[in-house]
Amino acid sequence: MKKTILTGLRPTGNLHLGHLFGAGQNYVKLQDEYEFFLEIADVQALTDNFNNPEKVRKNVYEITMDLLAIGIDPKKVNIFLQSKIPEIAELTVYYSNLVTVNRLFRNPTVKAEVAQKKELFGNNGESITYGFLGYPVSQAADITALSGEVVPVGDDQLPLLEQCREIVRKFNNIYGETLKEPEAYLSNVTRLKGLDGNEKMGKSLGNAIFLVDSEEVISKKVMAAVTDPSKIKKDDPANPDICMVYYYHKLVTPDSELKNVCSECKAGKRGCVSCKKELINNLCEFLKPIKEKRKQYEDNPKLVKDILDNGTCNAKKKAEDTLRKVKHAMKIDY
Ligand code: ATP
Ligand code: MG
Repeated sequence: MKKTILTGLRPTGNLHLGHLFGAGQNYVKLQDEYEFFLEIADVQALTDNFNNPEKVRKNVYEITMDLLAIGIDPKKVNIFLQSKIPEIAELTVYYSNLVTVNRLFRNPTVKAEVAQKKELFGNNGESITYGFLGYPVSQAADITALSGEVVPVGDDQLPLLEQCREIVRKFNNIYGETLKEPEAYLSNVTRLKGLDGNEKMGKSLGNAIFLVDSEEVISKKVMAAVTDPSKIKKDDPANPDICMVYYYHKLVTPDSELKNVCSECKAGKRGCVSCKKELINNLCEFLKPIKEKRKQYEDNPKLVKDILDNGTCNAKKKAEDTLRKVKHAMKIDY
């Protein structure tokens, strides 16, 4: 029997390089070996985008096309839409009794995200909503609804996964062994930094290179990327280890070329502008086949919708089964 993977993305924007290196490449690698459910988490996206439903709706299709473009095979992976599986919402209600409000406030991911969303939740999180505070509970429902055993994620998700494991243990203790405890699966790049040097490239952080970005957009972003601040003149030596341009060169530049980038930078033989131009060129080459594949889906929106419908239908059957077991264990299977 194949083990089950459950993972997800929020339809809050297109996929960026952080998704690809932090999670997406693992999805592609693992899709042959596992029963695979990939959730487009539109309900979760609404917790901090409730005032912008058009954005979430549009990005459901955008992100599905991005996933297909990076090589997710819809014959192997069930891409499904969270809001079409009400069983997940029902599980969320039952699990919410098993988590204290204090524990949710102390969750490091929730804390970091609330601090980033001052406009929405206030300077000190005083306007946080019940829905946003509770999204880790709903994420535990996502994972367990599909009996996810392995969860490929970036490391920003680890506290959420730990929260899920706690809920599972508490559920099983009280109601009897019913749910499986999931495990995280991390990639080599557990957290890709942003162009601005921020610890995380994020859709909502304004520091990302998206897979759909045109050459012009990529040029603008890379030209503004953070480099070693001590390098003023073209022939000043610099430290590539604190330069975001070198950081991205390491992802997409062939090893033979990369050695020169590093040694020339250290020796003051490389100006930042030409270094950035090389990176722009390599990024565009790297993204070219992804964009070509995406085009096939852009030209066939009906196919994208059918893929989502089919994945959702398969996911719903599994979630119905889990809910039946949960209600039986909780003695509410009237
Ligand atoms: P948002 O800002 O709306 O939360 P996001 O960029 O964090 O968007 P998600 O949809 O929340 O993207 O995350 C999808 C998956 O991609 C998760 O597994 C997450 O850990 C991973 N991920 C997101 N950003 C990065 C990154 N910079 N490095 C590595 N993994 C990442
Ligand atoms: Mg996120």
